[in-house]
Amino acid sequence: MNILIMGIRSSGKGTQSKLLSRYLNIPHISTGEICRGIKDKDTPLAKKVKKYYDQGKLVPNNIIIELLEERLKESDCKNGVILDGFPRSVDQAEITKDLLKFDQVFALKVSDEEVLNRLTGRRYCPNPKCEAIYNIYTSPKPKKEGICDKCGTKLAERKDITREVVMENLKRYHAENDPLIEYYKDKSISTEINGEQSIEDVHKEILKKLNIK
Ligand code: AMP
Repeated sequence: MNILIMGIRSSGKGTQSKLLSRYLNIPHISTGEICRGIKDKDTPLAKKVKKYYDQGKLVPNNIIIELLEERLKESDCKNGVILDGFPRSVDQAEITKDLLKFDQVFALKVSDEEVLNRLTGRRYCPNPKCEAIYNIYTSPKPKKEGICDKCGTKLAERKDITREVVMENLKRYHAENDPLIEYYKDKSISTEINGEQSIEDVHKEILKKLNIK
């Protein structure tokens, strides 16, 4: 069984892919993770990947497809895979339609406002012995504003995740993924899931659609 899980950063795509991978005992393959895993190696291919990755650009189709093909040849993929991050465009879907036939495609829907809150509201405890994570808009919220519940340290936020950066991510995500969602809708294998539910409820809905449980 091959499954594709689509969703923007913060939609819970990685979490759901991992849960499902454990449940079905088939590997979770993230092309972003594959790129992160090779980009600092000392090979010509790795250097090419790094060039695109570091600029936040998509790696050219021939390279990403070659990397994916190699991964799919591994023996743990024989009963199916859960793909996360590939395909990223209708073009990639078309080129690989014989290599990778999806039985089910899940699109985790989270409103732009919620994505903004989830990403810009993140706070973390910088105490290396604690490293607790909070969100000032969603949950878990710190009991006392700006202070870690567990150790009392002043909370910090990532300076690179600004409202502008998230808005740019959203624009890019919609441009790449909306046509892809339509593409799979036409093939009647896609399901939209409300990604604003709890992690357990999203997982349950996915299993129900797969006729499990
Ligand atoms: P992600 O972790 O999915 O956001 O991916 C991180 C980076 O890996 C992207 O910005 C691209 O440089 C590369 N990448 C991941 N998946 C793909 C893909 N399907 N096509 C092209 N590049 C990709």
